[in-house]
Amino acid sequence: MRTDKWLSEIEKFARKANHFRVYDLLDLMKTSGIPVSRATVYRAIKKLLSVGKIVQISNERERMFEFVNEQIHYHFKCKNCGEMFEFFSETIDNSIKEGTRKFKILLTGQNLILEGFCRSCCRRKNAKRKRNYNG
Ligand SMILES: [Zn+2]
Ligand SMILES: [Zn+2]
Repeated sequence: MRTDKWLSEIEKFARKANHFRVYDLLDLMKTSGIPVSRATVYRAIKKLLSVGKIVQISNERERMFEFVNEQIHYHFKCKNCGEMFEFFSETIDNSIKEGTRKFKILLTGQNLILEGFCRSCCRRKNAKRKRNYNG
């Protein structure tokens, strides 16, 4: 199966999915009746990465990507349920710009993920095991 043929289709789904793993995209496409293979999705993702349409935002066993939108933003990620929260910060944007100027760096990617536990997981965790909680 040619990747090119599917690239624009996969790109459409990536845009819709916002934050996604490879299997998220596969699921989305399968439920829409598009017979695309895992290998094709992998190749398409590689291609979209290389042209800067998507960026990798997490480096876990199942990598997570997101579609690049115009506004730079940052993430909180819950280590327990995996929920991703987005936030915007001009202050952080400016600090990064300042840093790149200072070190004369050509920025090609930018992602910031803060990890922790979301509110509902905190509540559950607190109830379950308090002693494990300051690490
Ligand atoms: Zn959570
Ligand atoms: Zn995001």
